[in-house]
Amino acid sequence: MDSMTAWNWSFLLLRAATTIACVVAAVAVARHGRGRRGTGWGYRAGAILYLLLLAGLTMAEAYGQITTWAGLSTPLLGWFWLGTDLVIPLAVLLLLRILRERNALAGQLAAAARHDPLTGLPNRAGFAEEVAHALARAARERVPVSAAMLDLDRFKRVNDGWGHAAGDAVLRGAADAMRQAMRPGDILARMGGEEFALLLPGLDAQSALPVLDRVRAAVEQAVPHPGGADERVTLSAGVATLATPSNEALEAALRAADGALYAAKAAGRNRALPAA
Ligand code: GH3
Ligand code: MG
Ligand code: MG
Repeated sequence: MDSMTAWNWSFLLLRAATTIACVVAAVAVARHGRGRRGTGWGYRAGAILYLLLLAGLTMAEAYGQITTWAGLSTPLLGWFWLGTDLVIPLAVLLLLRILRERNALAGQLAAAARHDPLTGLPNRAGFAEEVAHALARAARERVPVSAAMLDLDRFKRVNDGWGHAAGDAVLRGAADAMRQAMRPGDILARMGGEEFALLLPGLDAQSALPVLDRVRAAVEQAVPHPGGADERVTLSAGVATLATPSNEALEAALRAADGALYAAKAAGRNRALPAA
């Protein structure tokens, strides 16, 4: 054991670190993209096997080193192992970096798929995801939930009269004004065109009407109309209470809210109505 010099110790420490790094990397590769389809199981299985093999090799060599120090004869492959001790952690770090970048990119793509680029609001898919949490919470807290559909009034006129870019600016402005006027915990989404959905946890349709009126007034006051100060950007809305805090009830409530929205249009626009 008298051959256990500082140099030997650093060899052993490096090898232990290498072994741990390989195992950590193998676990990271195994966890990477778990649950997602099409993320290359062949690639992952290969990387895991490779890393576990490296871990095994460095462990075996450390064992060989110990047996040498203990007086048993194992050839010392000093320079070769020094090389692997330096190269393997670098390779592991590089691999982890590549995985981190892939994960970040996948996250960005997933976020982009759930959002509308014009307004930054969740789109239909994002809405479905965000309401799931709110519905679960409402079920726990046993509070009512309402769903509203909102649609800008005579929006085609804006596009036809002042161009698509002016229409886009109105859409962005309306989204910002609605965001500011809604309560924390409400969920707003752009469902398509100039149609928005708003989930209102804690309120039935009747008690949601003042919130919708506030949202409507905020858009009317805050969004400049391209036609000048004499024109107003207004919206109509319909709202319905969910029978239960479930996805099926949400679908039904959105359909009922859509019916109420069309009643609001027929009644002269620029108003919010509850479903019959
Ligand atoms: P109503 O009061 O009955 O709702 O009338 P409207 O003119 O608002 O309704 P309509 O559904 O006929 O018009 C919606 C228009 O919204 C038609 C479409 O060209 C326009 N639109 C949809 N998406 C966009 C968009 O992203 N940008 C712009 N500028 N216009 C859009
Ligand atoms: Mg419209
Ligand atoms: Mg519309």
